[in-house]
Amino acid sequence: MLRILLIEDQRDIAANIWDYLEFRGFVMDHAADGANGLRMALGGSYDVIVLDLGLPKLDGIDLCRALRAAGRDTPVLMLTARDTLEDKLIGFAEGADDYVVKPFAMKELEARIRALFRRGRLQHGDLLRVGDLVLDPVKLSVERAGQPISLTRAGFVLLEALMQRAPHLVRHGDLAHALWGGDGGDIATLHTHLSVLRAAIDRPFETHLLHTVHGFGYRIADNAVES
Ligand code: CA
Repeated sequence: MLRILLIEDQRDIAANIWDYLEFRGFVMDHAADGANGLRMALGGSYDVIVLDLGLPKLDGIDLCRALRAAGRDTPVLMLTARDTLEDKLIGFAEGADDYVVKPFAMKELEARIRALFRRGRLQHGDLLRVGDLVLDPVKLSVERAGQPISLTRAGFVLLEALMQRAPHLVRHGDLAHALWGGDGGDIATLHTHLSVLRAAIDRPFETHLLHTVHGFGYRIADNAVES
């Protein structure tokens, strides 16, 4: 999942962006002023920072400059008002990677975020692979032996969590957390999602990759002994 730091002081705008992106499967963090935003940007590990230009305590341009001065290359998407074209240009000089002009469509924002992330990831070549199973966290696509596999959102989230830790066990609690966040969710539903996932990625193939570790959780591994 893509981790986004949203730095925006206007509550309603921040809430709209948060709700939309979270619904679309992003993991969100939020800061309501520039000083906090910079502290979080330096302390956390984010895939993209969505940064408002006009912020209390430390504005977007200064934040961006400080971030780059600290050696951080996290992609920054700047949010600007329509009448601040000049600020945009300064923003790029200070290390912002792209911008959208308020008011913007959420779809547009999401597309820009994915494009920035893809650009960053392509440099790092970050597809997840186990055997002939490949997951692309940017395109949200999965294929096995070159065949595209379509998954539910739950299936994708679970598979990504398993592949990130492959070939190790991922416990029920960690899978539930990946899927539902802090609030949990019930284990029967979790097992159901995993059996749907297993049907999609394993049933049509000779080698089974998803392994149940009874009483503990699941793991994804190539040529592993069934436990
Ligand atoms: Ca603002």
